[in-house]
Amino acid sequence: MTRRQLFGWLSAFGAAAQTAPGNAATPATAAATPATTRPARLTLTDAEWRARLSAAQYDVLRREGTERPGSSALNAEKRPGTYHCVGCDLPLFSHTMKFESGTGWPSFFDMLPGALQTRTDYKLILPRTEYHCARCGGHHGHVFKDGPKPTGLRYCNNGVALRFEVAA
Ligand SMILES: [Zn+2]
Repeated sequence: MTRRQLFGWLSAFGAAAQTAPGNAATPATAAATPATTRPARLTLTDAEWRARLSAAQYDVLRREGTERPGSSALNAEKRPGTYHCVGCDLPLFSHTMKFESGTGWPSFFDMLPGALQTRTDYKLILPRTEYHCARCGGHHGHVFKDGPKPTGLRYCNNGVALRFEVAA
C-alpha cells in the first residue's frame, strides 16, 4: 500500500465514523465547522459562576439541572431575534430555528454554526445526547432525533439558560 492509498483509506474511515448511527445526533454543522471559527473558551471558577448567574441559571448551566416544563416565558416567544447563552452571551439559536414541540421547553431544529458541543449522557437508563455552549461549557439541554425537517433534530433547551435579543 502506498502512502497515498493509506491516506485515502484513513480519510474514508474518518468520514464513515462521523456518519455512524451512534453519532447521528451530532449536527453536521458541528463537524464541518473549522476549529478556527469556534469561539474562544471562557473559563471561570465555581465562585465566579455563582456570582455571575442566578441560582436557577447556575443549576442548569453548571449542574446540568432541568427547569420545570412550561416555566419559561421563552416558550411563547415568536418575535424575530437571537437566543444567547446566559452564561457568556454567545448567540446559539436564531428565531428561524425555533419550533413548537409541545414539550414545555423552548425547542430548536438547528443551532448557529459552532455554537454548541455534544456529549453522551448516561444519567437516565437510555443514553441521551447532552449539549453545551462551545464558549463557556454551560449545559443547555439535550438533542433528540425527533425534530422537524430539514435537520430532524430537536434541541430541547432550558429557557432559563437563554437570553433572547429582539432583532433591531
Ligand atoms: Zn456560554
